Order: sequence, then structure tokens, then C-alpha cells
Amino acid sequence: MSLKVYVNGHFVPKDQAVISVYDHGFLYGDGVFEGVRVYNGRAFRLDEHLKRLYESAKTVALDMPFPPEEMKEKVLQTIRINGLQDAYVRLVVSRGRGDLGIDPRKCPEPTIVIIAESITLYPEELYEKGLKVVTVPTRRMHSEMVNPRVKSLNYLNNILAKVEGNHLGYPEVIMLNSEGYVVEGSADNIFIVRDGAVITPAPHLGILEGITRNAVMELARSLELDMREEVFTRHDLFNADECFLTGTAAELIPVVEVDGRKIGDGKPGPVTRRLWEAFKELRETTGTPVYEGDKGRASAD
Ligand code: PLP
Repeated sequence: MSLKVYVNGHFVPKDQAVISVYDHGFLYGDGVFEGVRVYNGRAFRLDEHLKRLYESAKTVALDMPFPPEEMKEKVLQTIRINGLQDAYVRLVVSRGRGDLGIDPRKCPEPTIVIIAESITLYPEELYEKGLKVVTVPTRRMHSEMVNPRVKSLNYLNNILAKVEGNHLGYPEVIMLNSEGYVVEGSADNIFIVRDGAVITPAPHLGILEGITRNAVMELARSLELDMREEVFTRHDLFNADECFLTGTAAELIPVVEVDGRKIGDGKPGPVTRRLWEAFKELRETTGTPVYEGDKGRASAD
């Protein structure tokens, strides 16, 4: 059976899910989005994802046509109609159909698309061995240009960084901000562990404030680790004891080499492993139940 995609109030088969070529999401990357994981019939941190979506929309002055509660129901319906237990959900809200000018006032209605697909997992081996990554010349966008806290449809900044990684033959890259501080991966947040402290860049430095990042920070604090949001440079990164990346798709993945420098002993470290175990436990035991009759089973996020 073909997957059904939600497009502006209708569920349509995947191969018939289309939008206008005059949509400003297509013409200009004008819109916002979210990526949400479903684990074992429960949507992980769905309320947090919706909050970030509505905040992104507010910042780009995109009026959402209905409140988050209604959007939540549409996301859950899309997962249900496709009968998925484990999934990756892409929720896209674009400025909508307009004319060839950039003026958003020409777009009366946002376009809403929700795609729920079964998920392709990264090879287990990557989590065991860890990633080798490089820093790239393309800097993360300055917060006063398009704030990286907005999860917008305009991903060229990250795509250029990814292209640079591809040319060099690396599966993921680390981006610096315009001051030269380490900020994040092309689609993941970064953490280092140094002298027992777990450190991740603060949002004001120019990052997407990841939902996985925030969950891992909570876990670190509940494990009584010294969790800090601080600035750090490539020097701090090279000399860290451990490093890992977090994201909805990658979850929590160790980094064992940066720009040819081994991190720690070149193997995933103990703090990374502890947090990865804690994250796996969290994703299995929390989340918004997708199916009826399941409501008592999980605690809300
Ligand atoms: N940073 C960027 C630029 C991203 O695109 C993503 C992925 O969504 C993340 C970080 C990780 O965020 P999350 O954990 O919410 O997926």
C-alpha cells in the first residue's frame, strides 16, 4: 500500500502529493519545518518540536492557520493512517502559493505538508566506531542574518558545508560561526567532554537549538554530570577527551577524529556511552502515544 501524505487538509497517495510551482517554499525556501521521530508507537518530544515550529514561524512572520494542538492531531493522524510504529515525520509549513515576487503578502494561505515514512537507520557500526569529521570553510550564518535558531526551509548554508564535506570524503562536518567558535554539524548539534565537564555551544552563538540536544542536556544533568553551555574553539575540540553529535536522525553519535586529530584515545568515550544508553532508555519510555488505547502506557514528554 502506498504511503499517504497530508497536503493542505487531505491525505493523498505519495505519488500524487504535489504542491504548486508558485509556492514560495519552492521558489524562495520561504517556510519552516520539523523532523520528528516515532519510536515504538510514540512520538518523541512532539510538543517540543511543535513549539520550535511555531517559534520559527513567528520569527519569519508566517501566520500559522491553526494552533499547535490541532497541528499535533494532524501529525498523529498522518502516522496512524500509515500504520507506522517507528517513523521519521517531516512537517513542512511554507509561505504558500504566491506570484513570482518575493512579497509574502501575495501568499494568502500557508502550505502544510506532513510526510511520515519508515526510517532508514544509520549503520550500527558508525555508533560503535564513531565518526571522523572535518571543519569546513563555510561559516554558520550569523544570528543577525537568518537566525540559525529558526528551522527554515532555506538550508543552503548547511548544504554548502555538506558539499565541502562531500568533496573531502567525510560523512559529516563541523561548522564554525563568523567569530571562529565551534557551533554545530551540518544537521546535528555538537558536544565535547573535557576534564569531566560536558560542554555544548549556547544557542546565542548561532545554532539550531536541537530537541535531541536539549534531551541529552537534561540526561547529563540527571546523571549529575557537569553540564555547561559555553563557547569553545577548534583547539578545545582537538584537545577534548570525547566528542559526540546529536540530532533527530543521528540520535547520539560519537566523533573520534576531527581534522586528522584523534579525539581522546580515538574511541567512543565512557561519558558518550553513558549518555547514549540513557538516551536509548528515554526514547523507549517517553513520548506521545500515537494510537488509541495506548494513552496510559507512556508518560508525556
Ligand atoms: N542543527 C541543525 C542545523 C539541524 O538541521 C538539526 C536537525 O534538525 C539539528 C541541529 C539537530 O536538531 P534536532 O535534535 O532537533 O533534530
